[in-house]
Order: sequence, then C-alpha cells, then structure tokens
Amino acid sequence: MLTQPDSDLARRVGEGTKGRNVIGGAPVMAQSGATLDVASPSDGAVFATIARSEAADVDAAVAAARAAFETGPWAKMAAAGRGRLLSRLGERIADHAGELAALESRDTGKPLRQGVADVTATERYFEYYGGAADKVHGEQIPFLDGYTALTMREPHGVVAGIIPWNYPLQILARVAGAALAMGNTLVIKPAEDASLTALRVAELALEAGFPDGVFNVVTGLGAEAGAALSAHPDVDYVTFTGSPATGTAIQAAAAQNNRGVTMELGGKSPQIVFADADLEAAMPVLVNAIIQNGGQTCSAGSRILIERPVYEDVASELAARFAALTAEPHWADADLGPLINARQAERVAGFVADARAAGIAVLAEGSVAADAPAGGHYQAPVLFGTVDPQSDLAREEVFGPVLSLFAFDGEDDAVRLANATDFGLVAGVWTKDGGRQHRMAKRVRAGQVYVNGYGAGGGIELPFGGFKRSGHGREKGFEALKDMSATKTVIFNHG
Ligand code: ADP
Repeated sequence: MLTQPDSDLARRVGEGTKGRNVIGGAPVMAQSGATLDVASPSDGAVFATIARSEAADVDAAVAAARAAFETGPWAKMAAAGRGRLLSRLGERIADHAGELAALESRDTGKPLRQGVADVTATERYFEYYGGAADKVHGEQIPFLDGYTALTMREPHGVVAGIIPWNYPLQILARVAGAALAMGNTLVIKPAEDASLTALRVAELALEAGFPDGVFNVVTGLGAEAGAALSAHPDVDYVTFTGSPATGTAIQAAAAQNNRGVTMELGGKSPQIVFADADLEAAMPVLVNAIIQNGGQTCSAGSRILIERPVYEDVASELAARFAALTAEPHWADADLGPLINARQAERVAGFVADARAAGIAVLAEGSVAADAPAGGHYQAPVLFGTVDPQSDLAREEVFGPVLSLFAFDGEDDAVRLANATDFGLVAGVWTKDGGRQHRMAKRVRAGQVYVNGYGAGGGIELPFGGFKRSGHGREKGFEALKDMSATKTVIFNHG
C-alpha cells in the first residue's frame, strides 16, 4: 500500500517540467515549437508547459503507431509477452507511485489521497490486463460436414484514446490496459488541463520494455490535436471519455472514416434510498459519491431519491454533513479540492445561481477555506432540497459538488424518477428487502447498479459504460477486451 506523499512534495512536484510528446519511443516537441501553459487549479500558478500539437504531430504519432502495429517486435509478440510488459508497467508505476500521485494531485487539484487512490487503481489496471492478455481466445463452431470453422479475436490496429481531465491516470490505464492486452498500438491525447501523468506513464512504458511506437502520447487542445486524431483516416478505433457534446463531435469525425468508437459520456446518476435502508451505512456513501473529486466524476451520485417517510431525516442528516465540508488546495488533502479551471468553476456556479433564482431551496452549503489561494477555482458544496424533476439541475450533469434531493412514494415512483433523465451510467439502491433489490436492479436503466453501496475503488474488474446519452461500448473488466478487438471467422473446407 502506497504511503501518502507529503504536502510539500505535492506543492512543488513537476515544477518547471517542459512536457514533450512521446512519438515512436522518443520525446519530441510539437513541430511548430508551440507550447501550452500548465497551471495548478489550487492557486492558478503556471508551473510547467506541454506541447501544443497540431495535425502534423498527430500524423507522426499515428504513423509511428501504424509502423509498430504492422512490423517490428510488437506485431510478432505472443499474447503472454504483451501481458508481461503490461505487468511490468504496473510495477514501474508502483515504483514511482508517490511522485505520480503528487503530480496528478497538483495537475488536477484533487486532494492528495485521491491522487493516491488513482495511482493504486492505475497499477491494478495494468496488473489486471497484464494477466488477461493471454486468456482471451476464440471458439470452434460446429458447422457443415467437411468444414472446420474457428473464431479469432484480432486487434483493431491503431487505437486513439482521447482522455478527460478528471481521472487522467485511471482513464488512461483502463484504455491502454485493454487496448495493449489485445495487441493494438496506441495514440493517447490527454486533456489539455491535465497531461503530465500521461507523459510520465509513456516514459515508464518505454522503461518497462514496450517497443517504440506502441505507446504514443500527443498533447494539445481538443479542437486541434483531438480533432485531428479523431478524424485521422489511419486510426482504426477511437475511445473517448468526456462530455456528450464532445462525444458527438468525435463520433461524427470517426464516422467519416467509418471507424468504431467507445463512448463514455457521463451521467446524472441516482441513489435511491428506501425507508427500510440502513441509513447509517448509507449516509457517508451518499456524501462521498458527490464530493469525491469535487463532483467531477462521470459516475457521481448527483441525485438522491428518498422514500417519503424518511425524507426529512435523510435530508437533515445530509444537510449537517454538507455544512461541515470544506474545499481547500490539493496539498491540504481536505474533503474536496478546487475545480479544474475557471470555465468549469463558472459553469458550476451558473447552475447554482440558476437553481437559486428558480426558487429551489438550499438546504446546506459547505465552505471554501479562508486561506485558499485567490487564484484557485473553488466551489463550496451545495445541497438543494426537493428539486423539480424537470429543472436543469435535475437533468443536466453539473460536474461539481452540487447534490439534489427528490422525494418518492414506492417502487414505481422511484423507477420513474431514476429513469427520468437522458443519462444512464450508474445507480445506487439502498434497501434491505431482497426482492426489491432485484426488481430495482432490473428496472433502473444504468450500466452499473450498486445495491447497498456505491462505487468500488476504480472497479477495475467491473464492466462500465452507459445507456442512452451516457454513451455506448463498455470499458473495464473482460468486456473491454471485446471492444478493443474484433472477431475474425476462419472457415476451412477440408472435404
Ligand atoms: P471539457 O469540455 O471539460 O474540456 P471535453 O469532454 O470537451 O471536456 O474534453 C475531454 C477530452 O476531449 C479532452 O482531451 C479534450 O481535449 C478533447 N476534445 C475536446 N474537443 C474535442 C474535439 N472537437 N475533438 C476531439 N477531442 C476533443
């Protein structure tokens, strides 16, 4: 178990880094020489730079990934060899865990212990997919007399991974682990707000022994490097985690080349609390599911549906807990850190202001630490009570520490409310009634349903993805290995 890095390291790690792309096994500047500033969300201070890549840099990365896929050691490597490299990468990450956790925390503003949790999950992804690489195999299909029919799982080829800023390491690891286990090569485009750990992981992948060109990282803006990558005709498959609007743009770009995509596009996930629930066990989980990472989590539990007989009790207990929450700089390792940037902070503040203006009652507010740096992007947690299910607050993903409460009467009403948004990523059901647990798990439209719990420390083994506007395709677990490969059917006529 990784011990937590000290707050001093978290304040200075990465200082002065001049991040370069990793293309074909070599660190390179953008061809134009342009860079982007990297600022810490905790104080707004610029502490590093990354390459501002454009189409020419993306071309070079895709060409390197193509060459590594077609020729060279990767193309011939046995599945067990790929697995060994992935496991070794997990070990390299463990060797550098403290530095990576501190860097992730400084780059995103997340509390240090969340950086530690993210690194722990990252190691585990590489360990898991390292073990899985040689355990995926095809089938023999009973067919006509005189024939033998087989299926094989084949890699797509060059996979583009467009990564968001909320969990840069974890999402990189789930994409890279599954893609590389199946024999693809990779071009990763991390988010412009949080690219530093992706560049470190690419360096560690080279140290672990991945052949040149297998693991490429190109940094830059979404509208430049991201758009060029998703539209690239020599990319075989695109996987994206982020906002629905950007997902639409990326799918449209990939569609020009008729390439497959995996889309994980966030949620408006309900936690459903029945009157018979173990409320003492539920309470810290309900709070954590929206406060973790400042609410900037695809699977954040942003709506709490409460059965009417316990509504007042649950609401007042949540209010007491919300009032005690404090946002502080990442190094203070408080309940929550700042939001990622000024644009997100304004967006979240806008949701709060609009809900207040619409007369939705604020039940409690947390605080921002008095000594939080003025240049940081802080938002105090806000708890809203009895929210109109038609309001923006009830239907849109806020991506901040803002929680909404709704009252319901019985199972049918709970299902109706739970399914009343366009999203369908995760849900939580709290009840001691076994029959109801099963009925609710079946009726709630979400890619993951937790019963008497919520979230599972990365959930590396658990297939994850959405229904409806939350996207399509599945990541994590063995399911991701299917998305990251295609079936080839081979038919022998042997008379
Ligand atoms: P945000 O709006 O908070 O930046 P996004 O979902 O737009 O969140 O960003 C997630 C990732 O998608 C980032 O890596 C970003 O650079 C990338 N991205 C943004 N716009 C585009 C685009 N038009 N094409 C490809 N990638 C994009």
